[in-house]
Amino acid sequence: MENAPDTGLVCVSCGQSSVIQIEMELPDGTEVVFCSCHVCEARWWDKDGEAVAVDGIIDLVRD
Ligand SMILES: [Zn+2]
Repeated sequence: MENAPDTGLVCVSCGQSSVIQIEMELPDGTEVVFCSCHVCEARWWDKDGEAVAVDGIIDLVRD
């Protein structure tokens, strides 16, 4: 077994499991998880188990 965080997530970009998760709450109360890949430095948001592009969340915050 690799010594990787047991997040159950794999990177949406490179497929590795070295993904860190940071739980956050948007101003409107929506819970999202910020995900960042150690391997390729991809970043995305996870909302209700669905990957959301960073730009998509920014739109939500601005709304
Ligand atoms: Zn990656």
